[in-house]
Amino acid sequence: MSSTGEPLLGAIEAGGTKFVLAVGHSPTKIIARHEIPTRDPVTTLVQAGDWFVAQGVINSLGIGSFGPVDLNRSSPLWGHITHTPKPGWAKCDVAGYFADRLGVPIGFDTDVNAAALAEYQYGAGKGASSLAYVTVGTGIGGGLVLDGRAVHGAAHPELGHIFLRRHVEDHEFAGICPYHSDCLEGLASGPAIKARWGASLSELPTDHIAHEIIADYLAQLAHSLIAMTAVEIIVFGGGVMKTEGLLERVDQRAAELGAGYFPGGSKHKIVSPGLGQNAGLAGALMLAPLV
Ligand code: ZN
Repeated sequence: MSSTGEPLLGAIEAGGTKFVLAVGHSPTKIIARHEIPTRDPVTTLVQAGDWFVAQGVINSLGIGSFGPVDLNRSSPLWGHITHTPKPGWAKCDVAGYFADRLGVPIGFDTDVNAAALAEYQYGAGKGASSLAYVTVGTGIGGGLVLDGRAVHGAAHPELGHIFLRRHVEDHEFAGICPYHSDCLEGLASGPAIKARWGASLSELPTDHIAHEIIADYLAQLAHSLIAMTAVEIIVFGGGVMKTEGLLERVDQRAAELGAGYFPGGSKHKIVSPGLGQNAGLAGALMLAPLV
């Protein structure tokens, strides 16, 4: 409990390249924030734990983690990262480490579900019925909030691994997903773009076919999301989306693909994150159990 009497909540946005840590009273009242690089699990978790201990007593902690993760509360692997190819992190008990170290209740979900919750509540989805948050970077992932709740199903969605109709100019490239080769992530993630064209999308000239191909694939994801869930707002974030003009290309291509068919009409919107870089961290704070 802080000196103001409000519960002090902790948050971790656990990413593959960095951990972002924060303490605050609510997602809109962050008091302190800190970043550490993601190294091996022991080094990273201990450093993060040390930082929280130095902030004083927190009441609970929310963690939005890269994955795949186990979200089944009755599973012995709840709160673990499961089978990531990231060295050392498979079967890492992220939630358990902080529960033991800090002795507080832990809320745990995927980084993208956390970001989707925050965008829905405080960002681009304010006032909307539903929202999907898609990040396009080292990988492609997404979280979905329908009727105010993050969709979990048997585990959590893996929007980056859907299959697509290939662009007519993109039949040579095999794709780089270690599981599915030419799923969306295997074709349109940052590393897939580099593997295909030897440069990032923003480094390629704006008239390069890569822009059209990547926009087409991301628009197909948006089309599928709308077709399957009627989601109202689709937020596209992540490093690849910083490419000039890409969001507009995706939006335009999705409209072409939809061909005016969807009954939601202009309610369906493709937008940038309303919370900028803060969606994941704000969402992690929303995951902290209220005690
Ligand atoms: Zn895949």
